[in-house]
Amino acid sequence: MNTQYEAVIVGAGFGGMGAAIQLNRLGYDNLLILDRESDVGGTWHVNRYPGLAVDIPSATYSYSFEPNPHWSRLFAPGEELKRYAAHVADKYDLRRFMRFGAVVTGAEWDAEHAHWTVSLRDSAPVTAKYLLTATGFLSQPRKPDIEGVDTFAGAVVHTTDWDDDCDLTGKRVAVIGTGATAVQLIPEVAKAAAELTVYQRTPIWVSPKLDFRVPKALQRLFAALPLTQRIARLAGTAVLELMMVSGVLHYRQAPLANKLAEQWCRAHLRRQVRDPELRRKLLPRYTFGCKRPTFSNDYYRAFGKDHVHLETSAIRRVDESGIVTADGNRREIDVLLLATGFDLWETNFPAIGITGRNGRDLGAWWRENRFQAYEGVAIPGFPNLISLNSPYSYSGLSYFTTIESQMRHIDRLFTAMRRRGATVFEVTSRANEAFLDRMTDRIGDSIFALGRCATANSYYFNPHGEATLLRPSSTVNAFREAASFPVDDYSYA
Ligand code: NAP
Repeated sequence: MNTQYEAVIVGAGFGGMGAAIQLNRLGYDNLLILDRESDVGGTWHVNRYPGLAVDIPSATYSYSFEPNPHWSRLFAPGEELKRYAAHVADKYDLRRFMRFGAVVTGAEWDAEHAHWTVSLRDSAPVTAKYLLTATGFLSQPRKPDIEGVDTFAGAVVHTTDWDDDCDLTGKRVAVIGTGATAVQLIPEVAKAAAELTVYQRTPIWVSPKLDFRVPKALQRLFAALPLTQRIARLAGTAVLELMMVSGVLHYRQAPLANKLAEQWCRAHLRRQVRDPELRRKLLPRYTFGCKRPTFSNDYYRAFGKDHVHLETSAIRRVDESGIVTADGNRREIDVLLLATGFDLWETNFPAIGITGRNGRDLGAWWRENRFQAYEGVAIPGFPNLISLNSPYSYSGLSYFTTIESQMRHIDRLFTAMRRRGATVFEVTSRANEAFLDRMTDRIGDSIFALGRCATANSYYFNPHGEATLLRPSSTVNAFREAASFPVDDYSYA
């Protein structure tokens, strides 16, 4: 049986494109990139709700090898990210590998032929020597299990499925959720709606957003002298690194950094919200950093408007035309906006059924043996699989840091494999266990172990209460290890 492709990559977002660029650099040209959506960009293709913008400085939230001198703002709006994704796909000639509307239903390791068989919902399975999953962390929208949502007669819109025809002007609108998405959405909805009620279960830490328009002259300078933008990128990355390492990961050694960040957010709340009762409701009760904080200059201000209401009583049910809360109040609404986020652990680890050697099911194995992945990319029992969105894979605050350190890992691994004349790799259990032990130790110093996180409802924690999403090391460490891990941590055949 012939193997059709050298590699199949699942996902045409920035992670999948980074993997494809790296494989191309290594000389692999027979690739297939599958994506269930209709175009490139992953998150930035799917999300297009009002207010969408990146909240990591754009010079940092982009590939270091493909700087874009034309970001219009320090924090670019969503459609610029989507355009950037299209530009990368075109410039690196990746579209020839891409197949859209391709829903992958599962993948199975075929030991006899030493390749992966990838099943698709609407077409014949495909086979590939290597499987790289780049399905994202936030790609399975969560519909809330609130009684009666399906009975609501008006429009119900999840933020990942924004309906451009749904005009909110003059409408009575409800938003459920106060995560990063809601923080961006709410000020925009407040501008159009006649009444807006925000249903908050857990308040979120909000930092001021030091955003500004990038002057055309500076954009021209970045284009003419790329080194200047590299310096801007380095500065952005250094600030994020400092925030992550000192404020979150090394809480035991440097609790002050975290406390300063918390004070910074408290001061923002005090400045923008005069009403003490409203302020009390908006103030988080968990330690800063347990959950991903947000950045906004107009979120709190929105609640100062007469037609915007914050509801903190739990939702009891939704009926045909309104929402009833636990305190017995009922509010009539025309449109229900669900900013309820994503299922991570339940449906995203892994996002597709993956069956490895000897029938090992990745999802079941993770649940029975703790969530784990060597260097955030490889799992014993799964030969020739690179799982880019794995436990401990997310490093730093910009996703591009993660992507580029994973590209380095792929480079080193495939180079080592080919030097041995091999075509199959598999991480050893010994190396995987040592990595897991090291990550577990390091988490002990972090805010996740030492902070008050129980009430944060944070997706950084898996259902067993372990914070296994973020890699608890500096990005410098992640990059260094990606370029220098012992190649004998893998076996080759
Ligand atoms: P999220 O952070 O998970 O927030 C979901 C919100 O919905 C939470 O407030 C949650 O309350 C609430 N919720 C969920 N189910 C509910 C229910 N049954 N009843 C009442 N409330 C419910 O999701 P998100 O806001 O979409 O953000 C997810 C991530 O996307 C962010 O952390 C960030 O990484 C990313 N993001 C990034 C940007 C950017 O600018 N780069 C923008 C948006 C999002 P609880 O907290 O109580 O669970």
